[in-house]
Amino acid sequence: MPQIQDRIDPLFDAEGARNPLAILKTVYGYPAFRGKQASVVDRVVSGGDAVVLFPTGAGKSLCFQIPALCRDGVGIVVSPLIALMRDQVEALKQLGVRAAALNSSLSREEYVDVRRAIANGELDLLYVTPERIVTPAFKEMIGNARISLFAIDEAHCVSQWGHDFRPEYRELGQLGEHYPGVPRMALTATADPHTREDIIDKLGLRSAEVFTTSFDRPNIAYEIVERDQPRQQLLRFLSRHTGSSGIVYCLSRAKVEDTAEWLNGQGVRALAYHAGMDRAVRDANQDAFLKEEDLCLVATVAFGMGIDKPNVRYVAHLDLPGSVEAYYQETGRAGRDGLPSDVWMAYGMADVIQRGRMIDGGTSGDDIKRVERAKLNALLAICETPGCRRQSILAHFGEAHGGRCCNCDTCINPVETWDGTDAAIKALAAIYCTGERFGTGHLIDVLLGTENEKTERFGHSKMPVFGAGKDIPSKTWQSVYRQLLAAGLISVDHEAFGALKLEPDARTVFKREREVRFRKDRPVTGKGKGKNARQSAASGAKSALSGSDAELFEALRRARSGIAKELGVPPYVVFPDTTLIAFATARPHDHDALLGISGVGQSKLERYGDAFLDVIRGFD
Ligand code: ADP
Ligand code: ZN
Repeated sequence: MPQIQDRIDPLFDAEGARNPLAILKTVYGYPAFRGKQASVVDRVVSGGDAVVLFPTGAGKSLCFQIPALCRDGVGIVVSPLIALMRDQVEALKQLGVRAAALNSSLSREEYVDVRRAIANGELDLLYVTPERIVTPAFKEMIGNARISLFAIDEAHCVSQWGHDFRPEYRELGQLGEHYPGVPRMALTATADPHTREDIIDKLGLRSAEVFTTSFDRPNIAYEIVERDQPRQQLLRFLSRHTGSSGIVYCLSRAKVEDTAEWLNGQGVRALAYHAGMDRAVRDANQDAFLKEEDLCLVATVAFGMGIDKPNVRYVAHLDLPGSVEAYYQETGRAGRDGLPSDVWMAYGMADVIQRGRMIDGGTSGDDIKRVERAKLNALLAICETPGCRRQSILAHFGEAHGGRCCNCDTCINPVETWDGTDAAIKALAAIYCTGERFGTGHLIDVLLGTENEKTERFGHSKMPVFGAGKDIPSKTWQSVYRQLLAAGLISVDHEAFGALKLEPDARTVFKREREVRFRKDRPVTGKGKGKNARQSAASGAKSALSGSDAELFEALRRARSGIAKELGVPPYVVFPDTTLIAFATARPHDHDALLGISGVGQSKLERYGDAFLDVIRGFD
């Protein structure tokens, strides 16, 4: 198989430098850079440092791969997960790029081979774990070889502030001193200002240029529902995605296992993934998820970082994440390929109590706990918004969006609101009169005038507020309390077993200084599809394609699957769905026409061009 260098060398421009755009076209088969990719590439090719803050799916990998191919020497990529390095290296090899991963799973012989390739200048990209790169053994291995750049992927791991903190990342700040003159890049999809500041500070990237783009993911449809019968609700959501892959997140390991088992019983092919599983089983399940195209992976948040499967068609949350940042990162794993994808979450008051208990029971100091509580409330506010979800999510990241995105549940089925000032006063009065010592269950009993042992014992049945809320059903009162919480008018006291307390702003409601509007909860729909039900992207692609194009697409998928199995790689490493869709509609008949399709570079043309041409010709 010809190596990339054979083809890049004819691509020198007039000054004798390798041309990034020519590499993009020849190696990757893409016609143009996206967004700010070209600016990042220019910066690093000319030797500058860069911090790249792009959302998932924006194309961060090319931002370091192309400069590594343009500059002399080997590009070193720091990546936190060994299991995923293998797939990235495999994908690069398919493109004809000379790539390797350095990790503990290498045999002595393989290690020697990598070392020799580096010494001989025969490697374009080397993936390394953060703990290994700072060792003297690594420096010794590099010897006098030239390094084209350092790319620190998932750079948010350096920050204790967000999620996924990895102490080893702190050591990467030394790279600048150990390897002076080598451009360094940090890349992440986490945008919040604190994490960003940590990246710049801890990785010594003060003089780096910072590149940011919009964090919007327009192809992702957001939906958040009130939890009612979670398993049935989940099943209805999954029924919209038969034949495609996705992730279902749960908070606990036990729930992961139970849910996976239950889904299998319901005819949904599901596997479990969490940190407490036997390592071999866990790795096998991750591998199956990457390679198969119709698998549901039920997981804790231990799963997902660095997963670059482009055709994850849905992400479902059965439990509320701890922050908007976590929610956005987890849902962001859907739809890297830019095709329509759905994210869905079921939540209720119990989540808020549980999450709050986790925060208060944690070991962090009071300041951090306060921040964590604020982060949780910010997510709750997004759950309860009657407005466009996308608008509120992006606003959280400091980005303006006009709203009415037409691709979230509240835009597609606008939520009605009602004047809840009277109800809010009653709900707050129930908290006040009972001494801020009770949770929603008891408070609602008081409002509804339910006589039971507890209302008697505490003398609550004699209070004027007892039975004052009979005109509103229990479910609506639950919703009222959630919304008061989301609005910051009340808080949960976790040390007092989830008792609700009044916040200072509650006074303005009592005094009628403000109007309170509540969203009307939707009735939980029975069977069938909601108005915003969507086809899975595989079938979505099919429905976007005419009859025979759709059949051709399926045939191409089968051919891809055969090739991928033989090579032992995930199908998307052969070609992504977007390329197959273009094959099915444009129907290229020769090599030149194939090369005109996005995603077909020289190497893949040589490897698979004829196999796919045969399938296309068979459809004439
Ligand atoms: P990120 O790391 O930012 O999440 P990736 O690097 O995985 O994103 O890229 C997401 C997808 O977009 C990949 O399938 C990649 O090949 C594709 N892609 C990236 N840049 C381009 C481009 N300029 N043109 C077409 N496709 C691109
Ligand atoms: Zn919207």
